[in-house]
Amino acid sequence: MSELSDLYAQIRTCTLCSLAQSRTHAVPGEGPETTTVMFIGEAPGFREDKTGRPFVGPAGRLLEELLASIDMKREEVYIANVIKCRPPRNRDPLPREIEACKPHLDRQIELIRPRMIVTLGRFSMDRYFPGAKISVVHGKPRKIDGILYYPMFHPAAALHQSKYRPMIKEDMARIPQLLAEIDQIRDSQKPEEIQQLNLF
Ligand code: URA
Repeated sequence: MSELSDLYAQIRTCTLCSLAQSRTHAVPGEGPETTTVMFIGEAPGFREDKTGRPFVGPAGRLLEELLASIDMKREEVYIANVIKCRPPRNRDPLPREIEACKPHLDRQIELIRPRMIVTLGRFSMDRYFPGAKISVVHGKPRKIDGILYYPMFHPAAALHQSKYRPMIKEDMARIPQLLAEIDQIRDSQKPEEIQQLNLF
């Protein structure tokens, strides 16, 4: 068994927070065992909880459309979430749930070793840019320790409010170029330093 499937087994039986009691299936994530681009969403929704797969509902369809617009397929990228179990009635993840689930996502990133991490929505962005405003930082890449972090709006936001559609499309459209230039992009400040500079 690979280390990643080992991790999946741990996630599927995880009881580190109370979401374990209400979930149907934990949703570890999916994609190639090592890949260049990793998308990190927020939390499983209704369909994800039923199937155990990430982004298989309406937000997932939009994500697939957006990927197709840059000639990418979901099978080529890794797709994960900040928390692996559905919060009841799709409420926002709680800080303690995010904290409990953190070791799973940390390990996943360590194993997948992506060059670029695309955060979808504010909970995922918060992991790297705590306190930042997504309306300000979306579409602005920052390279830290060799990994390019790229915050985008969550596809569900674009489904609920059409004003986000053009922005999410534009941000997605920049990914191929960023990937092509990734080695030339210089490391930027660490998130703590960025916060001190008050750039957000
Ligand atoms: N929204 C997310 O953030 N993740 C999913 O897996 C599905 C919807």
